[in-house]
Amino acid sequence: MSQSKGITILGATGSIGVSTLDVLARHPNDFHVVALSANRNVEKLKEQCLLVKPSYAVMVDENAAEQLQQALKQEGSTTEVLAGADALIKIASLPEVDQVMAAIVGAAGLLPNLAAAKAGKRVLLANKESLVMSGQLFMDAVKDNGAELLPIDSEHNAIFQSMPFCADLNAEQDKSSVIKILLTASGGPFRSREIATLANVTPAEAVAHPNWEMGKKISVDSATMMNKGLEVIEACWLFDADVDKIQVVIHPQSTIHSMVSYNDGSVLAQLGNPDMRTPIAYGLGYPARINSGVDQLDLFEVARLDFEKPDFDRYPCLRLAYEAHKTGGNATIALNAANEIAVEAFLDDKIRFTDIPLVIENALLQVSSGTTTLLDDILAQDLSSRLVAEQFVNALK
Ligand code: NAD
Ligand code: MG
Repeated sequence: MSQSKGITILGATGSIGVSTLDVLARHPNDFHVVALSANRNVEKLKEQCLLVKPSYAVMVDENAAEQLQQALKQEGSTTEVLAGADALIKIASLPEVDQVMAAIVGAAGLLPNLAAAKAGKRVLLANKESLVMSGQLFMDAVKDNGAELLPIDSEHNAIFQSMPFCADLNAEQDKSSVIKILLTASGGPFRSREIATLANVTPAEAVAHPNWEMGKKISVDSATMMNKGLEVIEACWLFDADVDKIQVVIHPQSTIHSMVSYNDGSVLAQLGNPDMRTPIAYGLGYPARINSGVDQLDLFEVARLDFEKPDFDRYPCLRLAYEAHKTGGNATIALNAANEIAVEAFLDDKIRFTDIPLVIENALLQVSSGTTTLLDDILAQDLSSRLVAEQFVNALK
């Protein structure tokens, strides 16, 4: 690669943020970190700032920002500390930034991700929730501002790699040769547990994913398979695909990260060890392939690959996601908002695991069909669905 690229990492202290820094450390001449952000984890952001010396560090929480500033001052660091959600927008659109790793969890990523797209950056999209909330608006912002959108979610990254003609996600392409997008899913920790016992699973059991190490929210989403539901919607937007073309395939080994089935009978797939540094390195280096630190796949160790159809009785959240996407954009905003509230309540021991789909279904019943592409309306729908979900959670407690 030629010139060193400037990077902002939104959500630097999370699982994806940490993996991104790991890949970047292997390429000190090709990339430099301009800005890092976190919600409120002072210790970790301080440690990262001292290591990569960014120009800016953003803490959304004002008190945490104050503490970080003091701590960095004591160490003689020159990193400028900024506070509040508006500062995320600033670091996503700085002129010296080439690429933005969008790795904040949940709806909080929407505004900074949109800012990166509007500023014409290469957006490395891990935060699927922003696309579920604002698909049309987001894709238009990418197109209208000459931004580059590269999927980091491992499945979408695999699909991207399996659609050679799709290299420019923004371009109009003839995709008629694609018969199906086969989105793989591990099935999560409860794939073979008796359905009748799911009401009793604990947060600790739900976040213990069999193959991937991830943040808590996405781990619970993987257990309910809402993660796959959000990914179905994400794939529709990224690849301009009809929802009926997307088939979820349970593949417990998580070796194939997704596949594309073509009209000549070919199925293209991307395989690898389940480690997010592979798609992260792919996005950072694209179109070059760069070292990610991930071990080579040992097929003899994998030995076998299994595939199963998902069962909507076991995974009602997956069914709700398909239905919401068919209903329209307002419903997918409600789906995402209610899911965030429900997952938080489950992690806080306020509701049972099996209450999560009930909270979401109730929020979906109270939303109008149709799609809005106005940001204010999207944010208003998000807020009202959160309130509906919170009321339902309180009634369940
Ligand atoms: P995580 O919980 O480990 O980290 C989340 C990051 O976001 C942290 O840096 C945190 O400080 C920040 N954050 C949290 N709330 C915030 C708020 N309100 N405002 C600003 N920042 C906030 O999450 P993760 O597992 O790294 O996932 C991040 C995103 O990437 C999610 O959207 C997830 O769906 C997606 N993703 C993750 C993985 C994975 O393997 N972890 C894989 C695919 C996609
Ligand atoms: Mg994924």
